[in-house]
Amino acid sequence: MINDKTRNSPAGAQHLLPPLPYADNALDPVISARTMSIHYGKHHKTYVDNLNKLITGTELTDLTLQEVISATVGQADKAGIFNHAAQVWNHTFYWNSLSPKGGGEPPLVLKQKIESSFGDLDSCKKELATAAMTQFGSGWAWLIMNGDKLEVTKTANAELPLTKGIKPLLVIDVWEHAYYLDYQNRRVDYVNAVIEKLINWGFAESNLG
Ligand code: MN
Repeated sequence: MINDKTRNSPAGAQHLLPPLPYADNALDPVISARTMSIHYGKHHKTYVDNLNKLITGTELTDLTLQEVISATVGQADKAGIFNHAAQVWNHTFYWNSLSPKGGGEPPLVLKQKIESSFGDLDSCKKELATAAMTQFGSGWAWLIMNGDKLEVTKTANAELPLTKGIKPLLVIDVWEHAYYLDYQNRRVDYVNAVIEKLINWGFAESNLG
């Protein structure tokens, strides 16, 4: 799980853009350095910057990122703060869900969980791809742990499973900004390439907890 223990300084809003876990060209050619520079360097950074602006002077400044998410979910007057906080969290989780050495076979413990939940790895990957393809508009496709069982789910916009008490294991960003420069409208090609070549099963296993 991503470390979210760092509290903000007493001086106020100080959520930080976490460093990428790899170089910005490390996922090329599945995800180009150009996409990374804009997706991480502009989109993710802007979510962080806007979150800090939005919470400045509010009672939320001393909370961790997850606490901000929990404190604002489902509240119409705090939707802007929730959306930015959740997008900061989702993107950090997404970068960690990918790896230049990703794809292939999951480590043993996760593999056994996948087989007991989905039958086999291919069925798990197919469900993940279907969720990513059928999320209408912007959103996210997740591998989650629901009770003792692994499941696939999808969320719209900034929504995330954490707010329902469900543990996420990995995520694929299916907002157009994640793939449009490299794949234009071909979301299916982006999703399949990510699942086959980049998906970080080791990160998912580390989140089984
Ligand atoms: Mn994104």
